[in-house]
Formats: sequence, structure tokens, C-alpha cells
Amino acid sequence: MQQASLPILKDLVLIGGGHSHAIALNLFGRNPLPGVRLTLITESSDTPYSGMLPGHIAGFYSHAECHINLQRLAEFAQADLVTDRAIALDLQNNKVICANHPPISFDLLSINIGSTPAILSVPGASEYVTPVKPVRKFLADWEQLVAAVTRNPQQPISLGIVGGGAGGVEVAMAMRSHLHQILKNAQMPVGVTACDKSLARQNESSVQIHLFHRDAEIMPHYNRWVRRHIKKILTKQGINLHLEETVCEVYPHMVKCESGLNVECNPIFWVTEASAPSWLQDAGLATDSKGFVLVRETLQSVSHPQVFAAGDIATIVNHPRPKAGVFAVRQGKPLKRNLQQALLEKPLKSYRPQKNYLSLIGTGDGCAIASWGVFGCQSSLLWGWKDRIDRQFMNQFSDLPVKSEY
Ligand SMILES: Cc1cc2nc3c(=O)[nH]c(=O)nc-3n(C[C@H](O)[C@H](O)[C@H](O)COP(=O)(O)OP(=O)(O)OC[C@H]3O[C@@H](n4cnc5c(N)ncnc54)[C@H](O)[C@@H]3O)c2cc1C
Repeated sequence: MQQASLPILKDLVLIGGGHSHAIALNLFGRNPLPGVRLTLITESSDTPYSGMLPGHIAGFYSHAECHINLQRLAEFAQADLVTDRAIALDLQNNKVICANHPPISFDLLSINIGSTPAILSVPGASEYVTPVKPVRKFLADWEQLVAAVTRNPQQPISLGIVGGGAGGVEVAMAMRSHLHQILKNAQMPVGVTACDKSLARQNESSVQIHLFHRDAEIMPHYNRWVRRHIKKILTKQGINLHLEETVCEVYPHMVKCESGLNVECNPIFWVTEASAPSWLQDAGLATDSKGFVLVRETLQSVSHPQVFAAGDIATIVNHPRPKAGVFAVRQGKPLKRNLQQALLEKPLKSYRPQKNYLSLIGTGDGCAIASWGVFGCQSSLLWGWKDRIDRQFMNQFSDLPVKSEY
């Protein structure tokens, strides 16, 4: 018998289908809150899992393997899906303003929209570079390059990556790995000869990768052993590392640095420090000096109790952490719990992000480096371990229980 549906008592709106919201939606799907209407506003119907993104660039994972299907997840959580971009907030009247839909009202709002690389201040960057986020556009440009190299492997390529944090370094190694594989395949389909091998090596050297970083050392959030070891790997892989080089201008085929160094590069990928959109601050939300939403240990905004934020876009007062997917993932469960507590008008619970966290960095060659506090090591076994952890994480979204009729 069809049950009469409960009246909607509260509207919970989620902006962005980042890691924390994906986990919260999964939990809401397994344990729905009666009388609560859930709405997910997301600019795309799937979202990448950051842990597998470099592996996807390297050609190890398909698009489906490393993307969470938000449409299916929203269905599972019985959430309304609005495929649009939030562009403003009206916090007096509790409405989200979207680019293409009428304003969406909420009683409680949660924001998990990630961050984007800061590029605005560098002349030419907004016209001529591809930022790593939004990931959809980045992957489209990357796939275009892969197709061009596959079609014409003899064509020399000089590729630029700006930003030597963990993201930029992983992207550099992953891109190198994929491009070299294409060139190898192009030369050695069957019956490899010595002559073919030397041609293949010649071809490989036709791909130049330039990595620009403004500081003397790459990967500032990692320990000395990891930084040194990765630097050695980059050098061994033939990646041109330009340290203490601040990119100050970008032309269609060239990167110009403050030191006077000019390097021909096309395409240019931008993987610099994370930044936040201005509409959060414009709405009156309290933010840190970089525009990230300031939240308490409960993930509730310090200025607006009806707003929560998690992942890259949030900065927890007294517990600032690097912008990394590992924190966005960890915040999924406490975020869901506190959204539920707030909807039920019950006390919120505190969450403290861990100080030390395990980082597994793929080197694009079937190995990974583990970093934990001041420790680090490298092994191909670590890549296998990372692969299992990442696939297990993704399984929770592909193995959604089938729901019976309500
Ligand atoms: C190449 C690369 C590799 C990385 N590898 C790792 C790693 O191995 N480990 C790690 O811990 N971190 C890694 N990071 C960092 C990691 O990507 C981020 O910290 C993480 O993605 C943040 O997760 P999030 O849930 O906050 O947001 P995101 O994963 O960025 O998700 C935000 C979602 O919100 C959507 N969105 C954005 N704006 C709007 C809007 N206005 N309206 C509606 N929807 C919107 C986006 O489309 C996206 O789906 C990597 C970063 C890069 C660039």
C-alpha cells in the first residue's frame, strides 16, 4: 500500500557535490530524515575523487572509475538534483542564487564546493592557461592533448605546469607517464627492433615538461625526505624543474618569470595555491584572509548558524589544515551528523581534524611514496595499497543498496 508522504518541514540545501557531501548523501540515503527535503546543487552530474585523479591522468583509471555519479547518489538519498552553478547567497532571506535556475530557499545550507587555483593576478593566465579546477574542463583539455599526441607522435611538445605543490608534482609525473606510454606504443606495436627502440627514445625526448615553482623547494606541506626524494624522481624522469621562479605573465605559447626566464610552453596547466570564490564573502559570511568560510569545530559558520561548510572551502578556526581531499573525506560523517542535529534542533558535536595524516603520492610509474609526519618511503607495494584504498572508497558509491518502493 502506498504510504501518504510526510509534509516537508525543513529544507536542507547542499551546494557542491564534493567529497564531504558525497559521503553525507550516502549516509542520508541509508538513514533518511523524515520531513526533510534534500536538494543538491551541483554544476556537474559527476565529481572526481581526488585520490584517483592523477591515476586517471596517467591512464590507469577510466573516467567512471574515478568519478562519483552524483545523479545516482542523489536518487539514492531521495534528494532533488539541481544541475547548476551557485553564484550568490541571500542570507537575509535564506536563498541560494543560481546561474540558470530561480532562487532556491533553505532552512539549513551546507557548502562543499572545493577550491580553484588562484590565477587572477597573473596577466594572460585567464586567457591562456588551463586551471586544474574545474576538473571537467581540465580533463577535456588534457584529453585533447592526449588525442593530438596519439595522432601525431612525432610533433615536439613543450608542456608547462605552474605550481609545485603536491597537486602540480603529481600532475607532472602522471602526464609524463601517459605521454611516454603513447609514444612508446606508437613506435613498438609488434616485433621491437633496436632501431625502433632508439627511435622511441628520440620520440620520448620530444616531450618536454616544465614545472614552475616560486619557492626553493617543492611540496611545502611535506617532510624533507619526501621533498628531496620527489625532486630526485622528477629529475630522473626528465621533468624540467624551475625552482624559485615566479610566473609573472603568460602568452599563448610562453611562460614568463620574474627572473627574466622565458620558456616556450603550450599547453600550460595551472595548479597553484587554492582560492575561494568571492560570492561567499560578498554574502556576508565570515571568511579567513583568503576567502574560505570560517567554521567552528562543528563545521557551522562562525557568523551564520544556518550555514555549514566542509572540505577545501572551509577553514576550521584554530585548526587550519592544508587544502587536501583527505580532510574533505574525513569531514563527511561529522558534517552529516551535525546537519541532522541542527535539523532536529539538538546540540552539535565537535570534530577536530587530525594533525598528521598519511599521504600516498603516485609517481606515475607504478610506485607510490608514503608520507606520514616526518617519515617517508617509496615502493611499488605502496601503489598497490593506495589502489586498493581508493577503489574501496569508490565502491561505497557504486555499490549503493537497491531501494524498494516507498
Ligand atoms: C591534481 C590534484 C591531485 C590531488 N590529489 C590529492 C590526493 O591524492 N589526496 C588529497 O588528499 N588531495 C588531493 N588533492 C586536493 C583535492 O583535490 C582537494 O583537496 C579536494 O578535491 C577537496 O575536496 P572538496 O570535497 O572540498 O571539493 P571538490 O572535490 O573540489 O568538489 C567540489 C564540487 O563542487 C562543485 N562546485 C564547485 N563550485 C560550485 C558552485 N558554485 N555551484 C555548484 N557546484 C559547485 C564542483 O564541480 C565539484 O563537484 C589533489 C588536487 C589536485 C589538483
